[in-house]
Amino acid sequence: MSSNPNILLIYTGGTIGMIKNFETGALVAFDFDQLLLKIPELKLLDCTISTVSFDEPIDSSDMNVERWKELGDIINENYNIYDGFVVLHGSDTMSYTASAISFMFENLSKPIIFTGSQLPIGDLRTDAKENLITAVQIAALQKKGKPEITEVGLYFEYKLLRANRTTKINAEHFEAFQSLNYPPLVESGVHLKINTAFLRKVNRRKKMVYHTHFDNNIVVVKMFPGINESILKGIFSMEQVKGVILETYGAGNTTTKKWFVDMLSGVIKKGIPIVNVTQCSGGSVEMGKYDTSVALKKIGVISGKDITTEAAVAKLMYLLGENLPLKVLKTIYETSLRGEMLEN
Ligand code: ASP
Repeated sequence: MSSNPNILLIYTGGTIGMIKNFETGALVAFDFDQLLLKIPELKLLDCTISTVSFDEPIDSSDMNVERWKELGDIINENYNIYDGFVVLHGSDTMSYTASAISFMFENLSKPIIFTGSQLPIGDLRTDAKENLITAVQIAALQKKGKPEITEVGLYFEYKLLRANRTTKINAEHFEAFQSLNYPPLVESGVHLKINTAFLRKVNRRKKMVYHTHFDNNIVVVKMFPGINESILKGIFSMEQVKGVILETYGAGNTTTKKWFVDMLSGVIKKGIPIVNVTQCSGGSVEMGKYDTSVALKKIGVISGKDITTEAAVAKLMYLLGENLPLKVLKTIYETSLRGEMLEN
C-alpha cells in the first residue's frame, strides 16, 4: 500500500453540492466539478483524491435500493484500487444508505465514510468544508500501512459515528446526527482523537464479500395509541408484504389487546418476519421485561435489540434478499453482523 493513500470521493447529491434555482428558490443538485472548485484545500491533504459522481446527482429523499446498488457497485469495482472511500450524500436518508452499504460489504477492510452538510458548499457559513476535509482525512488514516478505520462511518460536525448506529435528529443544527447507543469512533478537535477500543476489528485473512440483493417488500408500522385494527388487517393481508418492522414503545411494548397479538401471530405463521424496534432514539428492546411484550416474544417476534429503525430497515431488506428460512433469518437478525446492535 502506498504511503500516500488513494481516496475515491463519490458524489451522490445532497445539499452539500446544491445551488438555488433562481425561478423557484428551491435547492437543486449541482455539478460535481463546480463543487470541487469551491474547496481548493483538498489539494493540500496528504492523499491522492479521485472523484466520481452519480450521472444524475439526487436529493437523498429520492434514494432507493437501485441507487444503493449503484453506489455499492462503484465502491466494489474500485475496492482494490483505493485505500478508502468518501461518499457525499444528502443528510435526509444518509443513515439508511450508509446502513445498507454496511450490510453490502462483508469483511470490509477499508473505510467507507459518508458525509454531507446542512448548508451548500457555496454558502458563506457552510459546514460542508470541515465535514468533507475531515472525512477525507479520516478515510486516509493509516496504521502500519493499512487503513485504520475498517468500517462504514458517518462524519458530521466533528464526530465520526458508526454509520449503522446513526439517526438524523435535527433538520436545523449542524450537529444533525446522533448515535445514542454507540460511542463516537473519532472526535475531531485540535487533534483527531481515535477511540480505538470502539473500532470494528478486521480479520484481513477473510475476503471481502459483496452482497447486492435487497428485497424491499417490507413495511414499517409505528405503534400509536388508537392504532386501528381494520387498517392493520388491510396492510398485513397484502400478499406483497414479506417483512415487517414494528416500531414499539419503550423497551419493546405494544398494546396487549388480543386482536393485535393474534394478528401478529397470524403474520408470523405465514412465514413473514416481524422485527421489534423501539421508537425511542436510545436504549434497547427487551421483550419479556414488561407484561406488554411477553406475548410478542412467545409468538416469535424478532428482537431488534438496540438497532435504529434505519439499520433495521436495511438489515431486513438485506436478509430477505438472502432468501433464508424464517427460523434462520430470526437467528441471524438477532446477531450483530456489522456492529449494528448489541453483541448479545
Ligand atoms: N434534502 C437534502 C438531502 O438529503 C438534505 C441534505 O443534503 O442535508 O439530499
